[in-house]
This record gives sequence, structure tokens and C-alpha cells, in this order.
Amino acid sequence: MFMPAFYNPENNMKVLKFGGTSVGSAERMKGVAKLISDGNRKIVVLSAMSGTTNDLEKIAQCLYEKRHEDANRVIDSLEEKYINTVENLYDTDEYREKGRGLVKSHLGYIRSFTIDLFTVFEEKTVLAQGELLTSAMFYYYLLERHVAAALLPALDFMRINTNNEPDTEYIKDNLAGLLKKYSNEEILITQGYICRNAFGEIDNLQRGGSDYTASLIGAAVGAEEIQIWTDIDGMHNNDPRIVEGTRSISELSFDEAAELAYFGAKILHPTSVLPAKLANIPVRLLNTMKPDAPGTLISSKQKKDRITAVAAKDNITAIKIKSGRMLLAYGFLRKVFEIFESYKTPIDMITTSEVGVSVTIDNNEHLKEIVDDLKKYGTVDVDEDQVIVCVVGDLVAEHPGYAHKILEAVKDIPLRMISYGGSNYNVSLLINARDKEAALKALSSKLFN
Ligand code: ADP
Ligand code: ASP
Ligand code: MG
Repeated sequence: MFMPAFYNPENNMKVLKFGGTSVGSAERMKGVAKLISDGNRKIVVLSAMSGTTNDLEKIAQCLYEKRHEDANRVIDSLEEKYINTVENLYDTDEYREKGRGLVKSHLGYIRSFTIDLFTVFEEKTVLAQGELLTSAMFYYYLLERHVAAALLPALDFMRINTNNEPDTEYIKDNLAGLLKKYSNEEILITQGYICRNAFGEIDNLQRGGSDYTASLIGAAVGAEEIQIWTDIDGMHNNDPRIVEGTRSISELSFDEAAELAYFGAKILHPTSVLPAKLANIPVRLLNTMKPDAPGTLISSKQKKDRITAVAAKDNITAIKIKSGRMLLAYGFLRKVFEIFESYKTPIDMITTSEVGVSVTIDNNEHLKEIVDDLKKYGTVDVDEDQVIVCVVGDLVAEHPGYAHKILEAVKDIPLRMISYGGSNYNVSLLINARDKEAALKALSSKLFN
């Protein structure tokens, strides 16, 4: 048979990621197993059972502080939760025994850190146990049901480089090797979130990073589609945890989705859109509890002329540098930005005037050093506890009126900064954290109702 040089046997495959609540109990895991058993070969990325990574973070904190008894208490409660899941998940004594063995070995491993030196290296190893354990339990469930499944260890192919960026070539090559090795299996299970770093140590893609795993895998195998299965029917037009009556958006462009994810829509990890966008692979956000709901389709298609959604990013610090003498003289902004660069601190928003420049950051690790350095160039004011509210849509200047509508909606809320025109897709407002709820509600009621 003729095969063109670009023939890729895996490019009809889908990548499906199931988040913590989707595998949060034995019942949920059984539901996922049913949902993925449709005869098509696929890669399934699993998070840890919900709450696990939070508990592992707590354990790590206790171990750093040498509070071994507290650590053991959390380990015991995790063990109980997983053992209960094992009892309800499997039908046979053989697999219940295997499942108990898995739980004992992973939690026993975590327990072993309570007697030794605890560093970042051990912390990352502890954090990885959630995904490792959950995926192994799920894999055994498929085996018990005689499904042709394989477990692809993420630690054998998912890698970040010295800049903490994904090593895409390494991922592609090593994943291809595993897919070839398991070419007859229908369901290929792997772990989200965890990876190795440039030194080969266990690391992770940051909290919520399983979405990122799915899109990196999708891009690496040239998948037909990436599906993010979670506990809600797609991207809503505002934060459903804060605003009542939010609605699911049927279609989003990659750019809109990236803005919403970056500015706080928790349903998607901030970095997860880019790999899919670059490889032009559609991403579907779906609800495990309502598998027939249409959810949200993210693609390169941009719906014209609309305000799509609102999101909010917390824990923002605003820094204002005032310098009547130097500001807007050429070279001044470069000097300011270089200070942030030297502390590896990204800037989110920027606004300027003749006498000052305001920027926001979401990482205060080097705030003191940054402020000390900035003082060379003028007076510096810092406001913590700020929130960026981001309104996303097709907001091109050719369709006037959107900025007015947005500002009208928040007319009673004090605005610290406004940013418009950075892209065609976003208007950002910086407000005090105490006004967040009122701002989100006012925007929903004026823009969407
Ligand atoms: P998972 O564990 O499956 O990764 P997450 O908790 O990370 O799930 O993300 C899903 C949650 O994101 C939803 O339960 C919802 O509360 C929250 N969320 C925040 N903003 C939005 C939004 N704009 N649209 C949908 N969900 C959102
Ligand atoms: N389990 C990890 C977390 O809770 C990764 C994820 O769920 O995406 O952050
Ligand atoms: Mg998530």
C-alpha cells in the first residue's frame, strides 16, 4: 500500500483528559471506563482523585516543618480513602488484593519520607504519587474487565527543559516509541501533571497541569481532537463559583480560550491552549456527569463581533513608578522592564501616563528586591490584594461600543487600571479584591442578560 511520507498512524486518535472529580470515586472511575470504551484507540490522561494533590501538598508542608505526626495523620486519611475506593472498584478478590497492594506501596513510599531529610526533590516525588496511584488503580480496573489497555508512564516521556518549558522533541520521540510498543492496545492510560525535569528528576507542570499534559500529548501525536472532561458542561461566560446563571459557551477561538484560561477560568490550565493552537488541534471541554451535553469547542474559528466571557485572576500586585523627569524618555521603560526580567517576574498589565507607569505582577517572590531596584528611577507605590477582571471577545476597534458597555457595567466600582488594545480579544480591569464579586456580577448582568 502506498503511504505518503507524512503518514502518521496515530493522527486519528483522540486524547481525553479526566480531571480529579471525574475520577473522584470508584463510581466515577467506572463511569469513565464506560465512556472511553467505544472501540477507538485513544490516549487517556488522568489526574489524581480529587483532593489528593491538596493533601499531598499538606503532607509536604508538614514534612518540611518536621511535623511528622501531622504528616502521618494526612497520610492515614488518604490511605483510608484509597482503600475504600479499591474495595468498591473491583469485582474480584484478585484485583482487590492488587489494588490494596498499590495503595500500600505508594502511601508507604510517602511515609518513608517522614524519617529523612526533606527537600524540593522529595516534595515533587510526594506530589507525583497521586497521579501515579490513581492511574494504576484505573488501569487495573480496565484489566479486570479484559479491556485491551496499557499504562504509559508519563515519567518516561513527559519532560521539561532547564527553562521549565516542555521538551517537545523528547516528548514526541519517546511517546512515539511507547505507542509503537503498545500498538495493539485500545486504551492507553497515562498520568497528567507529572514529568521529569532537565536533570531527570521527578517534577510537575504546576497545579492543574493535567490539562497541559493532554494538550502536549495531543500536539506530539498529531491528535484529531483533545478532550478535557471535567465537572461542568464547558467554559461558562463567567465564573460559576461566584455568579449565578452563567451559561456554557458553545464555541471559542484559541485566542479567547487562552485569555480566559490565563486570566482565571479554572476549567483550563493557563498554558494548555498554546500547544493545541500551534498544532491546530481542536479542544473540546466536556462534562463527565453529562456526557451528551455539547460542551465547548475551542478551535481556530473566531466568532465575530461579540463579548464572549468574563474571568478574574486573583492575588495580583500593582506597582506604580512615578518619575516626572524621566518617564517616557526613551529607554526608561526598558530599564523598568529589565528589573522585572532580572527577577524572572512576568508582568501582566501595563498602563502609562506622562508621569508614571503602572504594572501588575502575580508573583510576589521578589517584590521587595524589585521595589528597591525601581526606587532608583522614581517613587514607587505598591498595592497588593488586587484582581484582574478580564472581558474576552471579538473586541476589535472597528466595532465601537464594547469598551463603553464594559465600563458602564462597572461604573460603581473603583478601577485602578484599564487595559484595552493589547489584543483584539481582551479588555482588562484592575480592581481591589473586595470588589471582585460585585464586578463579576455587574458584568454578567449588563453584558449577558
Ligand atoms: P478538573 O479537576 O476536572 O481539572 P477544575 O476544578 O480544575 O476541574 O476545573 C473545573 C472547575 O472550573 C469548574 O467546576 C468550575 O467551578 C471552575 N470554573 C471557573 N471558571 C469557569 C468558567 N468560566 N467556566 C467553567 N468552569 C469554570
Ligand atoms: N492533580 C493535580 C492538581 O490537583 C493536577 C491536575 O489535577 O490537573 O493540581
Ligand atoms: Mg483542572
